[in-house]
Amino acid sequence: MRAVSITLLALLSVAAPAAAGGADTPGEHAQRLSLPLNIAVDEALRGRLEEGAALSATLQRQFTLIGDSRAVVEVRLFLGRLPAFRRAETTISRYDSGFIRARVFVPPGADFIELLAHELEHVVEQIEGVDLAVLTRTGGATQDVSGIFETVRARDAGRAAALEVELGLRALNAPD
Ligand SMILES: [Zn+2]
Repeated sequence: MRAVSITLLALLSVAAPAAAGGADTPGEHAQRLSLPLNIAVDEALRGRLEEGAALSATLQRQFTLIGDSRAVVEVRLFLGRLPAFRRAETTISRYDSGFIRARVFVPPGADFIELLAHELEHVVEQIEGVDLAVLTRTGGATQDVSGIFETVRARDAGRAAALEVELGLRALNAPD
């Protein structure tokens, strides 16, 4: 079966993510939202994913779209060193049949939720059949010299999810 693979990355941005320390360490009072069956996740990450999803409308939208699709998504902890300026990485294979397989590698750091939502948005883009070359011509994406695309909507999704989780945890931990 023929597959076309693309690699998408979260690139180091100049602006610091909105999420401060608390956003990536959900409190024990946070609810959890079960993941769709077609998202496989390292057990070490499951709690953070499910807690993040309970607090973030952006992650909920992504999980719903992925859950309803013919994609299989793996979310893996990345403990090695990514090349300079890269913060996370996703490889997506699209098969002729329409099947999509995505592997998302996210480091466990403070910006985990932002990177996760950013990469999942790239998966959603491919599920929706977004043409990155067309998007680049219309200003919704950029392509670097090595051919790697970055999209405005992935950056926005990452930042939105980080903020949603941060605000959600703040509300949970606020005194009555
Ligand atoms: Zn990206």
